[in-house]
Amino acid sequence: METKSLEVPKRQRLLLVPCPYQGHINPMLHLATFLHQNGFAITVAHTFFNSLNPHHHPDFTFLRLNDRLSDDLVTSSDVASVLLAINHNCRAGLEEALAAAVGDIVCVIHDELMYFCEAVASGFGVRSMVVRTTTAAACISRLAVLQLQAENRLPLLHGSIEDEVPNLHPLRFKDLPFSAFSETSKMAQIILNIYTITTSSAVIWNTIPWLEPSELTQIKAKFCKKVPIFPIAPIHKISPISSSSSLLNEDSTCLPWLHKQPPNSVIYVSLGSIALLTNQQLLEMAWGLANSKQPFLWVVRPGSVQGSGGTEFVSKEFQEKVGDRGCIVEWAPQKEVLGHRAVGGFWSHCGWNSTLESLSEGVPMLCRPYSGDQKVNSRYISCVWRVGLALEGHELKRKEVEMGIRKLMVEEEGRRMRERAMDFKRRIEDCLREDGSSSLHLKELVDFVMSF
Ligand code: UDP
Repeated sequence: METKSLEVPKRQRLLLVPCPYQGHINPMLHLATFLHQNGFAITVAHTFFNSLNPHHHPDFTFLRLNDRLSDDLVTSSDVASVLLAINHNCRAGLEEALAAAVGDIVCVIHDELMYFCEAVASGFGVRSMVVRTTTAAACISRLAVLQLQAENRLPLLHGSIEDEVPNLHPLRFKDLPFSAFSETSKMAQIILNIYTITTSSAVIWNTIPWLEPSELTQIKAKFCKKVPIFPIAPIHKISPISSSSSLLNEDSTCLPWLHKQPPNSVIYVSLGSIALLTNQQLLEMAWGLANSKQPFLWVVRPGSVQGSGGTEFVSKEFQEKVGDRGCIVEWAPQKEVLGHRAVGGFWSHCGWNSTLESLSEGVPMLCRPYSGDQKVNSRYISCVWRVGLALEGHELKRKEVEMGIRKLMVEEEGRRMRERAMDFKRRIEDCLREDGSSSLHLKELVDFVMSF
């Protein structure tokens, strides 16, 4: 009698390398979950710094890379130095891991900021793919900064930072990321490394072609002629991940508070996982929120206020003025919050994950970017997609905060933005339908990797 083989076909193994910051860990874990659901075995290589907890992701194998970061670097806000050190120090660990697993790992998929992976993979004859966690517009503007500098047009000698950058409409000089670095500076080194593709097989991009059509076309024509691009945004919607991928504990006590608020009445305020504030900025925010008379849910991350322990600014006077109208937490379940019917606006630093999460739920934004690509995102949100309002001005002033919040939450201009944001939500849902662009690109990606 013939016996049928019960052997399960062996899964192809992929090695995924996230960059150890929250805004990079989240998209990589969503991608890892999606790839696992689609038949691949997953190993995640992570640094000691902001290390991941394997117990929260039982389907994956984990590998720890010794980043040898000094205590000073671990606690510093100098992200560029941290990234350079990680790219230098983690090389040996990844080489060792690949040497031990040659023949087992079919592809290394790494965050663009972990660019050392491309060379290591290629050294072992293993394919690699890069994951871009910001927009195509950010990529173009970063490269434009290097070009402007090479032409001695930065820093600006003539004209104003309010002027538009030639060929970069609608970006002004003040929207450029890293506008004041020299070619040898740390950020310039990183930018050059992340966009120089030599051996990668493909680029996985957390964007959508209709969001930035001309920017993606430009990139394909200029910088990505030979490798396929898979635009699969919004990555956070392609698969669920455990909330414990958060580096800070999510405080869900804000949800019962949200349940009690009227629809579209609450402004959610969060500046992401890295932005730092001065005490004065915090006070201007606090009093702008208090005076706006709108209910607010505010994330004040521990350590995000220079020279303050956190919520110690909450004075008796502030408390009396706000009462139950305000809810302050250290870290929120952001995606759930943005999807809540009570939330009608998002005061954001315009990190790309936060932006996509907001657009996916049809929530318009009040934009106050801090650094890097956030300034580019803010300009696109307010001037190209017109789903948000920029809080401009060097200094944050409570009166402007108050007026900005009221404009977004209760005035006609805000209502129109909310309508447009709802339209974005519908278009994003379309991308994720079976025949939508992101679903089709994801399918192509799976077929592409299967073919290795
Ligand atoms: N986030 C969260 N809770 C918070 C604040 C932020 O879960 O209270 C998550 C948010 O959903 C997003 C990520 O942290 O996925 C922040 O990434 P983003 O790119 O927006 O900004 P970054 O932190 O990189 O500046």
